[in-house]
Amino acid sequence: MSVKENLARIQQEIEQACKKSNRKIDDIQIIAVTKYVTVERAIEAINSGILHLGENRDDGFLSKYNSIGSKAVWHFIGTLQTRKVKNIIDKVDYIHSLDRISLANEIEKRADRTIKCFVQVNTSGEQSKHGVAPEQCIDFIQQLKEYRHIEVVGLMTMAPFTDDEEEIRRCFRSLKQLQEQVKALNIPNAPCTELSMGMSNDYKIAVEEGATYLRIGSSLVGT
Ligand SMILES: *Cc1c(COP(=O)(O)O)cnc(C)c1O
Repeated sequence: MSVKENLARIQQEIEQACKKSNRKIDDIQIIAVTKYVTVERAIEAINSGILHLGENRDDGFLSKYNSIGSKAVWHFIGTLQTRKVKNIIDKVDYIHSLDRISLANEIEKRADRTIKCFVQVNTSGEQSKHGVAPEQCIDFIQQLKEYRHIEVVGLMTMAPFTDDEEEIRRCFRSLKQLQEQVKALNIPNAPCTELSMGMSNDYKIAVEEGATYLRIGSSLVGT
């Protein structure tokens, strides 16, 4: 399937989920996660009208960035090793995986402008997942107050890979609740208006639960 066909189908699903939950489709951005695919397929995504691209490794990020550059808005969505920050920091628009102070320190040190960051939260409690524990999230964001190069635009989570829709929903709901709590604190560098949640298998649920950025890979750009 072409990216265009996949995108049309996904947009329809998003529209339905928006109707169901009384949301506006314009409040939702699709990030095409191109980590499994070639530069050519990423270019196809851009030519199909997609603006946001996401990668989860620095080498993949750089190879796509070097061919596409400013035609896309660039999201780093995966676990980010501290020593890799310098490779991507002057190219990235959003980092979705801020989950520890050592990483915040490195971003603060290396960036020469404000980087829009999502704090990653481990809402499922799975050992294998990265992210701050929900009960530590507010504390963590308060510790970032003096970081001039970090803006906490929102929170990010990954739901468990399961057929249990209620379990997925629970994760997304708890992220939304946390986001509202952080927003209410009115911390100048943490407006926290955005929610990065929902992947190929759960983006419809994510839309219903308030996602503003969907990170969609296989069902959008997969072949
Ligand atoms: C790979 C990845 C995605 C996209 O996964 P799909 O299931 O292919 O849609 C989304 N978010 C993160 C953090 C990823 O690593």
